Amino acid sequence: MELWLYERPIFSEDQGWSYRIKIKKTLEDFKTPFQQLAVYESVEFGKVLTLDGVVQLTEHDEPHYHEMITHVPMMAHPNPEKILVIGGGDGGVIREVLKHPSVKEVHFAEIDEAVVTTCLKHFPNISCGLSDPRVIHRYTDGCAYTQQFENYFDVVIVDSTDPVGPAEVLFRESFFVDIKKAMKPEGIFVNQAENFAYKTHFETVKKLFEFLPNLFPNRGYYYTIVPTYPAGIIAFTFLSKGTDPYNFDIGNKSVPEGLRYYSPEMHKASFTLPRYAADAFATSNK
Ligand code: SAM
Repeated sequence: MELWLYERPIFSEDQGWSYRIKIKKTLEDFKTPFQQLAVYESVEFGKVLTLDGVVQLTEHDEPHYHEMITHVPMMAHPNPEKILVIGGGDGGVIREVLKHPSVKEVHFAEIDEAVVTTCLKHFPNISCGLSDPRVIHRYTDGCAYTQQFENYFDVVIVDSTDPVGPAEVLFRESFFVDIKKAMKPEGIFVNQAENFAYKTHFETVKKLFEFLPNLFPNRGYYYTIVPTYPAGIIAFTFLSKGTDPYNFDIGNKSVPEGLRYYSPEMHKASFTLPRYAADAFATSNK
C-alpha cells in the first residue's frame, strides 16, 4: 500500500490546493500542548517534520531555508554579537547563526519544548548547535520574551509556523513595535513571511507592509526556493532602522564555509521580486 502525506492550507478557508509527499513510514505522531507533531521517513526528501499537518522541514531542502533566513541578516550586519531566535525549535537557524565568529549570545525562545526534544532525536544534523554554551534556552512565547528587552539585539530572526495558532501573535503590529524596541539602532530583523505566489499568503504579506512603513525606514522582502513548501517558495521580511537591504556590501566579512545555497550573489538576487509583488509591497526601494 502506498502512503502519502497530504499538506493542505491551514489558514485559507477555501482549501483550494493541496500537495503530497510519498512516505515510507511514520516515525512520530502525537499531540503536544500546542500542536500535532509528526515525523515521517519520506521516499524522496529524507525525514520530514510536520506541525498541524504542515511541512516544517525536510532533510533534503532544509539548507535552502535555514541558510537564507540566517545568513542574509548575519552578513548584512557589520558585527552581529547578540542574537534572538524566536521559534525554530528544530535548531536549523541556530546551527547557521553559530557559524559567525562574532556571535556572543543567542537567545532561543521556542514555545514548544516537544519540537526541540523530537528534533534532537530525529534530526541531529540540524539541531547540533543547541548544546552550544552561547545558546540561552527559553521555552516561552517569543512575543512575551521580546517585551523584556530594550536596545539589546543586533539580529532578530523569527522562524515561526504560519500565522494561526501559537504563531498568530508574531504577525501582529504590536509584536513588531516590541521588536523595534528590543533591537539596537543598527539591528536587523527578519521573519518567516509566507510567499507572494498564493493568494492567501500574498494578502498576509500585504497586510504586514501596510503598517511596517510606520515602524522601519528600511524594509525589504526576499525569498528562497524550498521545493517542499507551498508554491516551492518562502519569503522573509528584512527590517531595519539602520541597514538598507538594497545596498548590500559584504565589506571584508567572510562567508561561512561549506554552505550549500547562500552566496553573496544569491543574497543580492533574492531581493528581486516579480513585478506584481514589487508593486504591491511597500519595501523601501521604491
Ligand atoms: N521553517 C519552518 C516553516 O516556516 O515552515 C518553521 C520551523 S520551526 C519548527 C517553527 C516553530 O515556531 C515551531 O517549533 C513552533 O513551536 C514555533 N512557534 C510558533 N509560535 C511561536 C511563538 N509564539 N513563540 C515561540 N515559538 C513559536
